Amino acid sequence: MRLFDLHCDTLYMCQKDKLDFKINNLQLSLEKGLKYHPWVQLFAIWVPDELRKQKAVDHFNNCYYYFLEQIDKHSDIIVQCKKFDDIQNAIKNNKCAAILSVEGAAAAGGKLEGFEHMAGCGVKMITLTWNGPNELGDGILSKNGMGLSSFGLESVKQMEQLNITVDVSHLSEKGFYDVVSVAKRPFAATHSNSKYICNNVRNLTDNQFKEIIKHDGIVGINFYPQFVNNTSDCTYKDIKRHIDHYISLEGENNISVGADFDGADMPSCITGIEDVSKLYDYLIDWGYSEELTDKIMFKNAYEFVKRNFI
Ligand SMILES: [Zn+2]
Repeated sequence: MRLFDLHCDTLYMCQKDKLDFKINNLQLSLEKGLKYHPWVQLFAIWVPDELRKQKAVDHFNNCYYYFLEQIDKHSDIIVQCKKFDDIQNAIKNNKCAAILSVEGAAAAGGKLEGFEHMAGCGVKMITLTWNGPNELGDGILSKNGMGLSSFGLESVKQMEQLNITVDVSHLSEKGFYDVVSVAKRPFAATHSNSKYICNNVRNLTDNQFKEIIKHDGIVGINFYPQFVNNTSDCTYKDIKRHIDHYISLEGENNISVGADFDGADMPSCITGIEDVSKLYDYLIDWGYSEELTDKIMFKNAYEFVKRNFI
């Protein structure tokens, strides 16, 4: 099975506790993920909402250095990919194709140059906010639910110039529509489910999902049960409801996986990355074609980066 996962917080967890990428007790490890060929994985540097300005920049750098250290230590099985060719080469060499992303643009330190620094480090995708407010605008749990600030609007333009994809997961609804009005390039919601199926603030309305399709964007299905069915556990069937709904909105070519490993509690049916293949089998057994299932697990995200990662 081919796997392309748009979001995990494993890098942050490893850096925090000085854990190894290859062998650890987290939901995602290289040892477990390498059962998939090819395997493309975005590794996010999560920026906690209490870190702002230089503290956020320092945090980014610490995580980035840890990422480099681990990639170097395990260079036989993982490689950082900064452009599409790198991904193709990683696949050819049977290595995990690792793409660096950032969850919380506070990592720019409130300066446009901060995005240049991150681009230089190979960051290919940035989630504009986490749940709280930052210099760019409000996250989905911010009190006022404001949209993007003028710095936020400038940041979107700057990211597009630097070939960094904008990620709207966690962003306030007003902020989302500000991105829609200013974005010239496709954008992503790397780990966001359907609000129609599960009424949770972190999920996307049908209209938001349709806007992402209109912009040739990509949406990752999140396995966190709270976002799947608003409870503490869920089944493959519950996850499939989100996929079916997105497909009913003509999103067959715009959905992928954004599991949220090591960023959220996982359901009992997917305790870690090794279990994503069971969801694949479930969808096939249920009657999905191999082509459609592969689109969701890999191809849609792969085609997205082919079009957008230069
Ligand atoms: Zn998240």
